[in-house]
Amino acid sequence: MNTYIRRAMLGTFAGLVSSAVLVLALGNSVLGVVLGTTVGLAYGLGVGPRSGGYFDGGMTAAALGVALWAMVSVILVPLASGEEPYWTTEGMRLTFPALVGWVLYGATLGFVARAMCDFGPTFLRPVPELPTPIPARTRIVILGGGFGGVTTALHLEQVFGADPSVALTLVSETNALLFTPMLAEVAGGSLEAAHISCPLRTSLRRTTVIRGQVTGIDLEQRRIRLSPGARVPLPPSDTGKFAEELAYDHLVLALGAVPSYVGMSDVQAQAIEFKSLADAIRIRSQVIDMFERADSEPDSGVRRSMLTFVIAGGGFAGAELAGSLNDYGRGMLAYYPNIPTDEVKVVLVHSRERILPELSGPLADYALRQMAARGVTFKLNTRVRGARDGVVLLQPEEELRTHTLVWTAGTAPHPLLQALALARDRRGGVIVDPTLAVPGQEGVWGLGDCAAVPHGSGVIPVRRPRSLQSAKRPCSRVTSTPGSEGCR
Ligand SMILES: Cc1cc2nc3c(=O)[nH]c(=O)nc-3n(C[C@H](O)[C@H](O)[C@H](O)COP(=O)(O)OP(=O)(O)OC[C@H]3O[C@@H](n4cnc5c(N)ncnc54)[C@H](O)[C@@H]3O)c2cc1C
Repeated sequence: MNTYIRRAMLGTFAGLVSSAVLVLALGNSVLGVVLGTTVGLAYGLGVGPRSGGYFDGGMTAAALGVALWAMVSVILVPLASGEEPYWTTEGMRLTFPALVGWVLYGATLGFVARAMCDFGPTFLRPVPELPTPIPARTRIVILGGGFGGVTTALHLEQVFGADPSVALTLVSETNALLFTPMLAEVAGGSLEAAHISCPLRTSLRRTTVIRGQVTGIDLEQRRIRLSPGARVPLPPSDTGKFAEELAYDHLVLALGAVPSYVGMSDVQAQAIEFKSLADAIRIRSQVIDMFERADSEPDSGVRRSMLTFVIAGGGFAGAELAGSLNDYGRGMLAYYPNIPTDEVKVVLVHSRERILPELSGPLADYALRQMAARGVTFKLNTRVRGARDGVVLLQPEEELRTHTLVWTAGTAPHPLLQALALARDRRGGVIVDPTLAVPGQEGVWGLGDCAAVPHGSGVIPVRRPRSLQSAKRPCSRVTSTPGSEGCR
């Protein structure tokens, strides 16, 4: 039954019962019943009686009786009979019995209304208010704030909307998404760092972002360990407290890859990596430093070694960097009059017969021809086999004299994953099925450079995992890019 109809009926009935007191006090049965019932109706609608608390209910309504006495017996009744309101002492004394009557009526009304909530017919009783159930929270934790992790978080935000039963958390070493395809432009001075990085917190509106380094993953206990200093906010009840561990129900592995030197520690010691903004800025500074030193160097052999920039690896990262540094270096020549043009050399060393293996043959060949025409030197079917101060050793046998070696030739899935009891492919990538689920590990998912993703149709309908199916919002389709190399 509608709440207000129920309250109106309850108030009317309580008013009718209580009007017996009013009839006695006013000495007018019609007036007493009409007034008593009407006030009861208004009381029921306005106050909404609750069960229990009879004394409180009675006293509150008795106070109401005083106001009704002043309004009805002191003002309205005399006015209705053509007299002045009984403001005087004499008038008050005359209406004192009515005051007692109204107060008793109010107390009875409050008492009866409460009693009816407890003992009246069922349809008059208020529906008991159930405590709001706290929804069981499903905790989805995404490790990695790169293309894989951020895209996952954005899609999950869309799928679950404001659903309070799902908590999304993303852990990343950096607090910004780096647009790696343009990292070469930062190294080559045509873009600044801020142009290619987007703060995670501005694009992820309902995901808790934790900046910190993941140091351990416990698949048994379903917990993530973070480096000291990483702060995981605790629930509001623990305001101001932080933890360094994170529990999950679903875990998304998107930690990407790290440079791999396949055991060549001498190369690792000499090389600059090219994965982060710091790497790109370091490379730019190195190029500028080499030009400055070469400008005042009288020995042309030493100058050449300073102005030779070797990049190992002809994938996206290496090819983009070679093109960018070549343009940068040749553009700088205008400001270094002591440096002959032919002494600047950007060398791309690549172990296969064509660069950019991710592209089609004709497109990769076109890229190579364009870059060669602009002055990039290519050494195909060639490997870096070692390095020492000022020299890079190649296979087939050759020595390049240089002070700058950038390594983009090999990556391996994140080393943290090696410690997990999960099936991995030859590269070390965690094997996942076409839905990105790790087979045999309920609630563990993987994607991007740290995963081995089977090639599929390109669009995979994603359903909520069974453990999330109680959540209200219908699930939408999200796209997934197949291929183990991450976003292309
Ligand atoms: C210079 C460069 C240029 C590229 N150009 C292209 C291109 O043109 N086209 C293309 O398709 N691909 C390109 N790529 C490859 C592309 O960037 C990757 O395939 C893609 O970034 C993979 O996404 P991911 O999410 O798996 O890993 P990443 O984007 O590398 O993200 C991994 C994330 O995990 C975080 N992380 C790592 N370890 C930890 C830890 N212990 N704790 C917390 N967080 C951690 C990292 O900070 C990072 O945010 C390029 C790569 C580079 C380096």
